[in-house]
Amino acid sequence: MHHPRIYQYLMTGLLLCTAWFALPVWATEALDVSNMSAEPVSLTTFVALLEDPERNLTLGDVQAPAQAARFKTDLPASNSLALGFTRSAYWLRLTLRNSSATPVERMLVVDNPRISHIQAYLPNVHGAYQSISTGSDSATPRIYPNRDFVFPLSLPPISEQVVYLRVTSSIGLLVPLQLWSPAAFHTHERNDYLAQAWYFGIASAMILFNLMLFFALRERIYLLYVVFVSCVACTLAIKNGLVGELFSGGTVLDSNVAYYCGASLTLSTLMLFMRRMLRTDQLMPRVDRLLQGLIVLFLLTTVAFAMALPILARAAVMLHLSTVLIVLVVVVACALKRQRSAYFFLAAFAVLMLGGATTPLRAMGIVPTNAFTVDAIQLGSTLEMLLLAFALADRFNVMRQEKAKAQAELLQAQQQLVDTLQSSERKLEQRVAQRTDELQLLNNKLEALSLTDSLTGIANRRHFDSILQQEWQRARRLGQPLALAILDVDWFKAYNDHYGHPAGDVCLRQIAQILAATVCRSSDLVARYGGEEFVFITPVTNATGALDIAQKVVQAVTALALPHARSPLGQVTVSIGVVSLTPTAESSAEVLLQHADAALYQAKTQGRNRAELAADYSATDDACRI
Ligand code: GH3
Ligand code: MG
Ligand code: MG
Repeated sequence: MHHPRIYQYLMTGLLLCTAWFALPVWATEALDVSNMSAEPVSLTTFVALLEDPERNLTLGDVQAPAQAARFKTDLPASNSLALGFTRSAYWLRLTLRNSSATPVERMLVVDNPRISHIQAYLPNVHGAYQSISTGSDSATPRIYPNRDFVFPLSLPPISEQVVYLRVTSSIGLLVPLQLWSPAAFHTHERNDYLAQAWYFGIASAMILFNLMLFFALRERIYLLYVVFVSCVACTLAIKNGLVGELFSGGTVLDSNVAYYCGASLTLSTLMLFMRRMLRTDQLMPRVDRLLQGLIVLFLLTTVAFAMALPILARAAVMLHLSTVLIVLVVVVACALKRQRSAYFFLAAFAVLMLGGATTPLRAMGIVPTNAFTVDAIQLGSTLEMLLLAFALADRFNVMRQEKAKAQAELLQAQQQLVDTLQSSERKLEQRVAQRTDELQLLNNKLEALSLTDSLTGIANRRHFDSILQQEWQRARRLGQPLALAILDVDWFKAYNDHYGHPAGDVCLRQIAQILAATVCRSSDLVARYGGEEFVFITPVTNATGALDIAQKVVQAVTALALPHARSPLGQVTVSIGVVSLTPTAESSAEVLLQHADAALYQAKTQGRNRAELAADYSATDDACRI
């Protein structure tokens, strides 16, 4: 994460300046270590310092009076010696006195796990020097396993010892030097590792959990979060010296290169994650392109750092620092644009910076040193991780709400469509029903028309034919008689000639009315047979009955007394031929017509204005008559 970096860079810069300006004040004094509280003692002011730019002085050289006199003493009070970007070797000389009558054990601690090489010269009980080689890039296993560099010292009663440390680094040097009583250091160590375990435990849990979320939800942003948090955790593990401790005695990568590369990867994965979360590609496309460029640049810097970190270190610090500023500005801009996730990012950065700021504030004595403030960076980083995970959860929630809203809208639209379709379907059904009714009416009309004679309004010849067949079959089935009569208007040609055709039509209508009124049983049928000829059928009627009806028709026409100047009778009259018989299997309805026609002929020849039974038929087939 960038917070340890921010702090580190700010502090390095700050301390570099103070170191350059404040170096030439000296005084040396032996430190009495016989009475120590539980608090560690910062050794900065008790150290004498000698720069060895050629890096070729030996212990013998610095002990010799010529060099020994060059040691600078009375360094300004501070938690650490800030020696700046330097490739020089530095010799640190420390005089410790045990004024008590008992032997004293002490721990000398270099509280910066990223010093490439430390050569410690510790006097043993015989006064000879024991040389111990260690450092983040040292191949020698540590004499005391710790993430920092720890040298156990033992001072005999009433004695004074001079300890020498030679430190070098590939980039720069910041040497916090402390002296602890063993018991206090063990407590401190236990608490320190507890805090580290807490931090890396939480980080691992977040990584694993979000990895599972990624597999479950198939959302790439969870993977970006996992990669980002992993980079943060790894970079912090390098910074804390946990990686150095784990691989002590066999480092693969230069510790500073690893740390700078970790910082670059952390920044680039942070930007990848942030771009996705804040949707900068939509909110601010130009800035998004800048971020993309930076991401590529940072990926490239890892290669550059591996090749030439000492040259690039200052530029790298500036680049990282300005990128952190850019990221901050982007987050603030997104927050101002009311991007919800940006609020979480702001909060995350706030806790991070608070954590980062705690260390320099602690160094300046503004903030007390305790279990919380010592590992404030990790605490800030933990809270940042949690806040960003919370931002992910919030984003998921927002997306779910948006989805639900979209679904509801879709449903509503679908419902509207269905409603519209249903109503138009109903309308269509109504129209079809209406059309069907109209068609039915029309059909009825047509059928009526096709069965009705247009002049007289009674049944036409077609209707008569089909009814005759039906009645014939029925009468045959039931063995009942069926009567039929044919009516012909007398001297009608002459009537037409005399009164004109329209008058003839009127006359025909009147005769049809008389006929319909006289033959009026519901089972009877009256029809116009053609021209001025009419027929009627009366089922279940014997010859006498049928003749009776026919005679009533003749009388009714006579009673009308329509004038007919060209008729011998002086008025319109009709002649009717009547027949009634019970159908047999062999005969057909045509027989009825033939006999009726014959009877009509008889009525004509016998003087007209009368009804006649089919005479020959009644004589030959008397059995059929009822
Ligand atoms: P008869 O007494 O022997 O029947 O003499 P008739 O003049 O009636 O002779 P016929 O039956 O041959 O004459 C039929 C006449 O009926 C011929 C035609 O002018 C007339 N007629 C037929 N259909 C119509 C019609 O629809 N309207 C009118 N006005 N006259 C018709
Ligand atoms: Mg006729
Ligand atoms: Mg006639």
